[in-house]
Amino acid sequence: MKPAQRISIGGDPAQGNHPGSRATHLHGTAAITPLTALRTIPRDQHTISRKDISPNALRVLYRLRDAGFQAYLVGGAVRDLLVGGHPKDFDVATDATPEQVRQQFRNCRLIGRRFRLAHVVFGREIIEVATFRANVDDGSGDREMDNGRLVRDNVYGSVEDDAVRRDFTANALYYAIDDFSVRDYVGGFEDVMARRLKLIGEPELRYQEDPVRMLRAVRLAAKLDFEIEAATAEPIGRLAPLLSEAAPARLFEEILKLFLSGHAVASFEGLEHFGLLKVLFPETAAALASNRSGALRRMVMAGLAGTDQRVANDEPVSPAFLFALLLWPAYCRALMGLQAQGVHAEEAQRRAADRVTLHQLNTVALPRRFSLPMQEIWLLQTRFGNRQRKRVTRLLSHPRFRAAFDFLALRLAASPEHAEDVAFWRDAQTQSGEELAAALGVAVPGDSFGEEGAPASKRRRRRRSRSTASSPE
Ligand code: ATP
Ligand code: MG
Repeated sequence: MKPAQRISIGGDPAQGNHPGSRATHLHGTAAITPLTALRTIPRDQHTISRKDISPNALRVLYRLRDAGFQAYLVGGAVRDLLVGGHPKDFDVATDATPEQVRQQFRNCRLIGRRFRLAHVVFGREIIEVATFRANVDDGSGDREMDNGRLVRDNVYGSVEDDAVRRDFTANALYYAIDDFSVRDYVGGFEDVMARRLKLIGEPELRYQEDPVRMLRAVRLAAKLDFEIEAATAEPIGRLAPLLSEAAPARLFEEILKLFLSGHAVASFEGLEHFGLLKVLFPETAAALASNRSGALRRMVMAGLAGTDQRVANDEPVSPAFLFALLLWPAYCRALMGLQAQGVHAEEAQRRAADRVTLHQLNTVALPRRFSLPMQEIWLLQTRFGNRQRKRVTRLLSHPRFRAAFDFLALRLAASPEHAEDVAFWRDAQTQSGEELAAALGVAVPGDSFGEEGAPASKRRRRRRSRSTASSPE
């Protein structure tokens, strides 16, 4: 079993990175269309079965119900179950306040100030229990705005209130533990059946309230293979620039979900289609647009397809590698620019890596624990051309060797010129010391491992790096 999904990389639920805190409603009911009447879909008319629900989530639902509270499974889990998916987490909504929830469970902690929630902890699984939120300001100070953004949202309400503050109709369905029915206040059941993503309320206003919903639309459409309904899709191209105002830490979290959940290729295509890629990754988008041969795009797509494959095989995927891939076009472009200005190779590589990382931080907060290995993956690329024995051994034992090699193999998708390096290093990893020496002996006649055997560019680089002067030879 994987670790609890709640503990997201770099996210701090208490700081408002939690999904629940994303439900922002600035304009009160203005953005929300009038409620459609409640539609109850009885147990025999939907496919959600208790055997597909986490036993811990069921425990929480039953306990709340037995204590006299309303309790529903809600959000992504209901949606995913209806389309036959396997939800990665199960959220519960209730009329019990967080304190009342805590009284029911010994294994419960309250989190978040801006959006107070109860987490019921069962080993590695966390069931999140949220009290119904309303979309109104009751003047109590439980709802606070800062510069047009909602910074505190603890006004509790009814289940209907809770439904309309959610983003898509498909995400606003409630599975009732009383009678195992699905309760639908916004037409979500029909939309899920038609595999359609539709914003609740007036799309333009809902995106203005929270621009990250544009990314969520693309991500959920990619993940579920849903179509984004026309009125929901229409404003995205126009409003895309609003995304640059979203909190960079939250964008980082969203990007991980877009690209590391098994639907990276579809996500990338969706982002490109809706003009969101150029807001999230401006330099990459520019580099892709100016790369006429399409080699960079081929490489990115190959990398994303590989990532999806790894997720499908339950193999680990790393944010550092992902960002190395997504920002590689930007890095190449920066590098070419610097070299054209006469900056010598090694210096240009370092500066290009730093510059791209720094610029990217304006939109997406990439933590250093990922940006440093990302840069290493880039900088190691030039070392694959060097076949001196000492260098080969050193590179093979570099902690980032494997990631850098996998990256080199991807570059092969962009240009065949890397075929020989890929073949050499693929073998080198599996060879014994003697085999490697023999192989290098062939590559470097006379076993001198002298510079004659190394590619010309490497010879120059080596000499330069010994001197402090950056003047060309
Ligand atoms: P996933 O499959 O990625 O978990 P999800 O829909 O469950 O998709 P979460 O981020 O886990 O996404 O959010 C849980 C629920 O909270 C959503 O289903 C939706 O009802 C609500 N929600 C999340 N983000 C927003 C938002 N930005 N605006 C309004 N409601 C939101
Ligand atoms: Mg979820």
